[in-house]
Amino acid sequence: MDVYVEKQKCTGCEHCKDVCPVGVFVMKDSGAPDVNSDTAPAEWQWKGTEDPATFAKWKDVQDGHTHFKEKSVAVNGSACILCQACLIECEGECIVITDDTSTVYHSVYK
Ligand code: SF4
Ligand code: SF4
Repeated sequence: MDVYVEKQKCTGCEHCKDVCPVGVFVMKDSGAPDVNSDTAPAEWQWKGTEDPATFAKWKDVQDGHTHFKEKSVAVNGSACILCQACLIECEGECIVITDDTSTVYHSVYK
């Protein structure tokens, strides 16, 4: 299983880390030197610029979560059991999972 986060869309809400039963995700400060320590494709790595639409949608939301301070890093994608919990909790709709048959799953916030 490959698990990637499109980091420019990640709000830093931590929902993925909270719901994942196998510890796929860790949160890193967006300025941390190892924020791109996963194996996500280059276009999904953090380069310092938020996705404008995602930022506009979540920047003023007060839901008890800090937004746009941290990024989720999928450091343990091989442990994913495809429970799909993260796929419905992801504010930024930025988690992409590819299973062993090359089926691709995208997170959709519900
Ligand atoms: S689908 Fe995979 S990465 Fe997502 S919460 Fe479940 S085990 Fe974790
Ligand atoms: S749930 Fe989505 S938006 Fe929230 S921290 Fe995880 S990857 Fe980022």
